[in-house]
Amino acid sequence: MAIRPIISLPDPRLRLVSDPVTRVDESVRALLRDMLETMYDAPGIGLAAIQIGIAQRLVVIDLAKKEEEPRPLYLVNPEIVWSSQERSSYEEGCLSIPEYYEEIERPAKVKARFVDQDGKRQEIEAEGVLATALQHEIDHLNGVLFIDYLSRLKRDRVIKKFIKAAKRDAEPPEVRP
Ligand SMILES: [Zn+2]
Repeated sequence: MAIRPIISLPDPRLRLVSDPVTRVDESVRALLRDMLETMYDAPGIGLAAIQIGIAQRLVVIDLAKKEEEPRPLYLVNPEIVWSSQERSSYEEGCLSIPEYYEEIERPAKVKARFVDQDGKRQEIEAEGVLATALQHEIDHLNGVLFIDYLSRLKRDRVIKKFIKAAKRDAEPPEVRP
C-alpha cells in the first residue's frame, strides 16, 4: 500500500469525466487500498480516484470515527439511481479544496448502485452524511466539485484564491545576494 499525492484546485484533471472500470482485478483492488490509505492519512471520509490523478470510476468512503473500527466502502462504477425530493444541507469540504468549507444543500436520501471490491453488484440506500458523501464523491467522477453548487461569485472567489496560492507555490525561492 502507498499514500499517493492528492491533486488540488485549480488542477484541470479535477474536471475530467472518469472512465468506467471494466473488470475488478487485483490492480483495481490495489488501487482502492492505496486510495483508502491516502484518505485515512489526509484525513478524510471520502476519496475519488481522480483526486490522485487517476480518471477511473472508483470511490472509497469511510465514515467511522477515530475511536471506531474502520468500515471502508469500496465503490466501483457507482451511480445514484434515486434521490429524494426532500433536501438537507451539510457543511462540506474536499481534500482537493483544502481548508475550505461551505453548507451545501442536496437530496437528503439517495439510492446508489455500484460494484464492490469482489466484483459483486450492490445497492445501498443512504441518508445523512453517507448520502452527502456518496453524492459528493460520485460528482467527482463527473468532474463536478461541491463549489459548483455555490453562487458564481462565491465559487469564482474560491477558485481565484487557489490559483493565486498555486502561483505563489510555483515561484522560485528568493535568492539573497
Ligand atoms: Zn471532494
